Order: sequence, then structure tokens, then C-alpha cells
Amino acid sequence: MLNQENVAQLKQSLRGKLIQPNDPDYDTCRKVYNGMIDKKPALIAKCANVTDVITAVNFARENNLLTAIRSGGHNGGGLGICNDGIVIDLSMMKGIHVEPEAQTAWVEAGCTLGDVDHATHGFGLATPSGIFSTTGIGGITLGGGLGHLSRHLGLAIDNVLEANMVLADGSYVKANAKKNEDLFWAIRGGGGNFGVVTSFLFKLHPVSTVYAGPMLWELDESEEILRWYQDLIKSAPDELNGFFAFLTVPPFPPFPEHLHLRKMCGVVWCYAGDLDKAEKVFEPIRSFKKPALDFVGPMPVPVLNSLFDALMPPGLNWYWKADFVNEINDEAIDIHVKYGAEMPTPLSTMHLYPINGVASRPGNNDTPWSYRGATWAMVIAGIDPDPANNDKISKWAKDYWQALHPYSAGGAYVNFMMEEGEDRVKATYGDNYERLAAIKAKSDPETLFRVNQNIKPKLIDVVAWSSSKSAVSEGQNTGN
Ligand SMILES: Cc1cc2nc3c(=O)[nH]c(=O)nc-3n(C[C@H](O)[C@H](O)[C@H](O)COP(=O)(O)OP(=O)(O)OC[C@H]3O[C@@H](n4cnc5c(N)ncnc54)[C@H](O)[C@@H]3O)c2cc1C
Repeated sequence: MLNQENVAQLKQSLRGKLIQPNDPDYDTCRKVYNGMIDKKPALIAKCANVTDVITAVNFARENNLLTAIRSGGHNGGGLGICNDGIVIDLSMMKGIHVEPEAQTAWVEAGCTLGDVDHATHGFGLATPSGIFSTTGIGGITLGGGLGHLSRHLGLAIDNVLEANMVLADGSYVKANAKKNEDLFWAIRGGGGNFGVVTSFLFKLHPVSTVYAGPMLWELDESEEILRWYQDLIKSAPDELNGFFAFLTVPPFPPFPEHLHLRKMCGVVWCYAGDLDKAEKVFEPIRSFKKPALDFVGPMPVPVLNSLFDALMPPGLNWYWKADFVNEINDEAIDIHVKYGAEMPTPLSTMHLYPINGVASRPGNNDTPWSYRGATWAMVIAGIDPDPANNDKISKWAKDYWQALHPYSAGGAYVNFMMEEGEDRVKATYGDNYERLAAIKAKSDPETLFRVNQNIKPKLIDVVAWSSSKSAVSEGQNTGN
């Protein structure tokens, strides 16, 4: 039972708001993006600044409360919320400061990707991240961050220069390549295990308008398209990104009526090179097989990164399963073709996001992201507005994944996982898990932050770990 005097004191100390179950805003504030998640925290601390975060972390620790950290609330497994405990909600912290000459931006952890794109695009700059503008910068960055610019500019974690964070003991620290190096290593892929990140310093790049958009082909051409796409993306220049998808065409404009509600396959392209050369780059793509729909053309980065927002509003029910993939062999192609045709609802989908190119250049131990050699991060997402279909969409996603998993690289992108247990987390981090566990043991020994893809604290000799890996990382991932 919470001591109400302590709660009243917490409420008074915050510049933001403290939301409790009897508050009129409670149901709105506890909602997350995935409609399947229905959790009821005792307290939601909507923090207005770093001091509020320190106060909330101290309160959580002193009152032994289960603690969730929320940035955009987009996590598929609902890890930005918890039952009974406290949510440290960062959504009011939306400051962004762009330094155009240095090509950097300080971004507070409550920003969405749309906030970041908006602020940087004004200067003709961008940082690579995800493909929906509504996703929170906090969760996506801490787990990795992949999207339309990954092959050209790397993952979001490859563009983090610095972060400010509040640790479990309430201390406020800076982590970068020279200060708290272990923490800096851990937060670039290790998720929300190590503390509450209050702001990130991102590297920006002069990318403003790209040549991009979806191309769709008939479902019965998917085997041929998938084979061609695989060869193409494995040898494509870094400037060209394209993720493969199975989807159902939405029944409204701008999609032509004759395609409405048709199951199809497609590739969403993004060419970030010289725009004058774009048509030439797409000549062989367009001539391979005439697409049934071709929406590819010049597009500002923020438009591309919000193109699908309206198709996937908050509150839909999601169940997703993921894996990293090196190669799509004949057996895997057959499985894709079968389950692509069996998508259970119009919003259900399967995406293969390429992570070769620039995203594959760092070594497997340079950050916690231990699948730098994989070609794709795959996600199979069963999605529908009607909770009555939850079993149907979950079953399709699980069956599809089960059939494909033997042909995968083993682990999965943490941000595309539900709560799937320790073995999946270990499979994902591989030999980086040990170092993450050691850093957790130092920064959060009592596991205050455990509503996440959890790393269990365990002390090891980090210096010895690093030198054992440095020899290995030489020569890693030289190809795609
Ligand atoms: C529609 C949709 C589209 C997506 N598209 C992409 C995509 O293109 N690319 C991609 O890489 N991923 C994508 N994702 C996955 C996304 O990266 C994860 O869902 C991510 O967890 C969302 O971050 P969030 O801050 O919105 O989530 P939240 O639910 O707020 O938080 C998720 C997790 O991150 C931790 N966390 C969040 N903020 C902080 C912080 N400041 N400090 C410490 N821990 C924190 C929390 O503990 C929690 O475990 C998508 C998800 C959805 C639902």
C-alpha cells in the first residue's frame, strides 16, 4: 500500500503532473499505442524536466515500486507501462535544440520521431530513425532504431553522440565516448535497462528530399519479386534502401479503386543519393517487372517518415514476432509466399527491413547490437482494430514465425519483440549479454528498471571482456 502522504508530497514536488486512478485523465494517460495492452499503474508521473525525473526515480526506489519508463508509448509488448507501479512518463519533455553548423541536435526523451524530423528538416538536416512519425525517440533509439535511412546512415544508435540520464540511485550523469563509456556503450542497443535517458545528442546529416515511396506487385508474383529483391538489396549502393512487405491495399484514395483490399507484395524505397541520378537508379527496378502501383518520386524526409501514420493509428491491436535474417533460401521463400497469402486481416503485414550497407559496418561488439552481419530485421505483425480478432492475428504471426525461425539468424531486434522471456533476450544480444549484465550490475543492481527486455545484473571483468572481443571485431562485417 502506498503511503498517501508520500504520494501527496510527490505530487507537490513535480513541475509536471501526477496522475492517479481517480483522475479524469487516468484512462487517457495509461493508454499505449498497442490496444491489446491494458495495464493499470498506481501512479503516472508526467515529468516536465530532469528534476521531475530525479524525483520520480527516487520515489520509485524508496517506495519499492515496479517502474516503467515511457517515451512515445509505442512499444509492441507494452513495456512503457506497468500494473500497480509507477510510470515515469517523459512525453512532456519535448525540447529540441539544433546546431546547424555542428550538424547535431539535442533532443529530449519525450519527443516523437515527427518532432525530431520537423525540427531538423528546417535546416535541411536529418538523423536516421524509424518509419512512423508517432514513435517515441526514447524507446526506438535505446533499442537500435532502423528505418528508411539505415543503409545510407546507419542505425539511430550509430548516430548518438551523447546522452544524459538519471540512474537508479537518482544520480544524473552524462554518457559519451569519453565519460561513462560503459553506459554509453550499453544504451546504444541495450534498451531501457540502465537508467532514464532524459536527452540524446544526435549527429545530423544533410538529407532533405529523397526519392522514395512504395511500389506494389501482384501477390502471385511475390516469389519472383522476393528473389529479385534479395539479390538487389544485397548488392545495392548504400544510398538505396528498400524494405519488402506483404500488405493489403487500403480501401481509400490515393490507392486506385481496382486495387482496394487486394493482398499484394511491395517494396518501400528510399534513395538518399543525388536526386539528379534517381531516375537512372530506378530504371532497372522499374523495368524488372512493371509494378501495379508506383508511388515513387521526390519526397521530403518528414513526408516519407509519416506516410503510413494514418494507416496505423494508435489503439489498434498488435501482435508481432521478429527475427534477424541473413539469407532467404528456397524453403523460406515458400513459407513467405504461403503466409503472405494468408494474412488474417487487412492491416496485418510482414516487413523485411534491410540492415546491411552502412548499418552493418560497426563490429558486433562495438555496440550491444550483435547482428551487424544480418541482412534484414524481419517483423511479422498481426494487426486489427477489433479485439475479437486478437487470437486470429496472434496465431497467424506465431505460426508464420515458427515456420520461418529455423531459417533465421537466431535472435531478433529487441524493439520488435513482445515479452518473450530471457532466452530470446540472450539470443538477441549474443556474447554482448555478459557485458550488458555487468554494466547493469553497476548502474542498477536492484533492477529498479525491469519493465523492458530485461538484462539480469551479473558482475564480470569488463576490461578483460573488452580486450577478448577487440581481437575478434577486427575484420568483422567487411561484406554485406
Ligand atoms: C507502428 C510502429 C512502428 C514502428 N516502426 C519502427 C521503425 O520504423 N523502426 C524501428 O526501429 N522500430 C520501430 N517500431 C518499434 C519501436 O522502436 C519500439 O516499439 C520502441 O520501443 C518504441 O519506443 P517508444 O519510446 O515509443 O516506446 P515506449 O513504450 O514509451 O517505451 C518502450 C521501452 O523503451 C524504454 N524507454 C523509453 N524511453 C526511455 C528513456 N528515455 N529512458 C530509458 N528507457 C526508455 C522503456 O523502458 C520501454 O521498455 C515501431 C513500433 C510501432 C508500434
